[in-house]
Amino acid sequence: MIGEHMYPEAFLKRMKNILGDEFNSFVQSLEESSPTSIRLNPFKTILKFEEEEKIPWCMNGRYLNERPSFTFDPLFHAGTYYVQEASSMFIEQAWKQINPDNEPVRVLDMCAAPGGKSTHLLSLMNEESLLVSNEVIPNRNKVLQQNLVKWGTANCVVTQNKPEDFSALENFFDIILIDAPCSGEGLFRKDKDAIREWSEENVAMCSIRQKEILKHAVACLKPGGFLIYSTCTFEPDENDNQLADCGLRIVDLEIQKFGQVKTKLGYQFYPHKIKGEGFYISIMQKEGGETTKHEQQTTNNKPSQFSILNTQYLKQADNFQTHTKNDMLFAIPKMLMNDFLIIEKHFYIRHAGIFMGTIKGKDFLPSHDLALSNYVKVDLPAIELNHEDAITYLRCESPKIKPEHRGWCLIKYQGYNLGWIKAIEGRFNNYFPKELRILKR
Ligand code: SAM
Repeated sequence: MIGEHMYPEAFLKRMKNILGDEFNSFVQSLEESSPTSIRLNPFKTILKFEEEEKIPWCMNGRYLNERPSFTFDPLFHAGTYYVQEASSMFIEQAWKQINPDNEPVRVLDMCAAPGGKSTHLLSLMNEESLLVSNEVIPNRNKVLQQNLVKWGTANCVVTQNKPEDFSALENFFDIILIDAPCSGEGLFRKDKDAIREWSEENVAMCSIRQKEILKHAVACLKPGGFLIYSTCTFEPDENDNQLADCGLRIVDLEIQKFGQVKTKLGYQFYPHKIKGEGFYISIMQKEGGETTKHEQQTTNNKPSQFSILNTQYLKQADNFQTHTKNDMLFAIPKMLMNDFLIIEKHFYIRHAGIFMGTIKGKDFLPSHDLALSNYVKVDLPAIELNHEDAITYLRCESPKIKPEHRGWCLIKYQGYNLGWIKAIEGRFNNYFPKELRILKR
C-alpha cells in the first residue's frame, strides 16, 4: 500500500530492481497528481492557451495549471486542441530526427486509437504525406475516426485491420509507429484500472503480442525506413528486450536531455524525472535492400457528376478527387489518390480524405466531417454562437437563433465550426451528431 493506492507487490519488486536508489522517489511521484496537458492543433490556431507553460519537447504542447472541464469548452469540440499526456508527445523529437526536411512520406500508425499520436503525426507531416491510421478494435476505431475528423486534415486513411494483414503490403511505408498495447504501468497514477489489470501474466502476454505486431510491421517497412516503437510501461520485456532481435538497426536520438533515461536500446520516461507519465520510445531503421515497386493503380479520372460539390464546399477544390462508396461521397487529395487505391485494395477502410456527405436522391446531406474539415470554405452561410448557445447546440438541443438563410448553415464558436443546422420555414434542425452530444449537466 502506498498512500491510498494498492500497487501489486510484484510490480514494486520489479521497479526496485530497475531503479535501485531511485525507487523511493519513483514511489513518491506515484502519489502526486498527474499534470494536465494538451496539444494545440496547428491548423486551427487559438490564443486561449498561448500563455500556458510549454512542454519542452513538443512545440504545440502546453501544461495547464488546472484541469478545466473540456466537455464544456466548445473549442475542444471544434478540434482546436487534443488532451494528451505530455511524455507521449516526445514522438515529435523522433519525427524531427528521422525526417528533418519534412519530405513527403507514407506513414503507418499501426495501433492508433484513440488518436493522440495520429493527430500529432498529422500536425508534423506535410500535406503530400499520407498517414494510414489503423485500429483493429471496432469501437476504438470509431473514437479514432471522431478524433481525426476533429483534427480536420485530409491526408489520412483510417483502416481497421489486424497487424498480420499489413504483411501483404511489403516494403511500403517510410515510417511506422507502433504505440503498442502494453501493461500500462506508466499510467498507474492516471488510470486506476491499469493497477487492477496488472499481473505478471499480463506483462508476459503483452510481450508476446508486441513481438507479433513488430514482426508484421517490419515486413511492410521500406528498406531504409524507420520504425518508432513506444509503450507506456517500464517493463524491459515489453521495451528493450522486445527489440534486440527484431532485425532492425537501433538509431540514437541526437537530442538534448529533457530528463529521459537512456536504456540499452531506447529511452525511458519516469514520473519522478520528468513532468509527465511513464513512457518508453525507441527508433529503429531497416537496413537497405531490395525495394518493392508498388503497382500504379488505374483511376477513373473522368470528372464526376459530384465534383461540383467539391467546388461548392471546399477551398482548393481542384486538389481533390471525388470518390463514391454506395451513397457516400469522399474527397481524396489527388496527389495521394494512387496510394489510396493501393490501400483500398488491401485493407478495410473506415474513413478516407474528407467524407463530404451522403447523396439522397437529388439531395446532398453535408457530413459533420465536412463541417470540421480544414478545407471547408470560409464563406458558407454561418451563425456564430455565444458560449451558452454553443453548449445548447452541442447538446443537440435548439439554441436561440433565427437563421437568415434557408438550407444548410454552419454553426461557429469563436470562428471555429462546430457542425451544421438546416433551416426550413422559420425553424431549423440541429445536425450535430447524436453520438457526440454533451450529456453531462
Ligand atoms: N497510439 C494511441 C494514441 O496515442 O492515442 C494509443 C494506442 S494504445 C497504447 C494501443 C492500441 O492497440 C489500442 O487502441 C488497442 O486497441 C490496440 N490493440 C490491442 N490489441 C492489438 C493487437 N493485437 N494488434 C494491434 N493493435 C492492438
